[in-house]
Amino acid sequence: MSEETLFTKIINGTIPSKTVYHDDLVTAFLDIAPKAEHHILIVTNKPIPSVAHVEPEDEKMLGHLFIVARKIAEDLGVNESGYRLIVNVGKNGCQEVPHIHMHLLAGGYLGGFGFPNDKI
Ligand code: AMP
Repeated sequence: MSEETLFTKIINGTIPSKTVYHDDLVTAFLDIAPKAEHHILIVTNKPIPSVAHVEPEDEKMLGHLFIVARKIAEDLGVNESGYRLIVNVGKNGCQEVPHIHMHLLAGGYLGGFGFPNDKI
């Protein structure tokens, strides 16, 4: 694959991670700098740079992110109590890694959305 993003290297195992889920469409692993008790990144195996680059053909894979989010939330025991899903997009969205991913944050009450400078 020509686009070797940081997350592609994690998915391929070149860079180590604590993987909690993997299938043919997505991979989930612990964020290296957790912003909550539980902070998991759910990443598309296909290295689409951001939501700004999604195509209709990606619909199944992108919908699958939510199915896996629910599964992980169930595994964590927070599916009923609640959690937060975040997708940062582009420079103004403070997206650091140009490879589509969903943040799953959980562990107690998360509060409202932070100020724009509160990077999540
Ligand atoms: P974003 O700013 O939405 O692109 O989020 C990128 C996330 O990747 C941040 O929360 C980082 O802490 C996380 N991250 C960066 N490098 C690693 C890594 N090697 N393993 C796990 N998470 C990482």
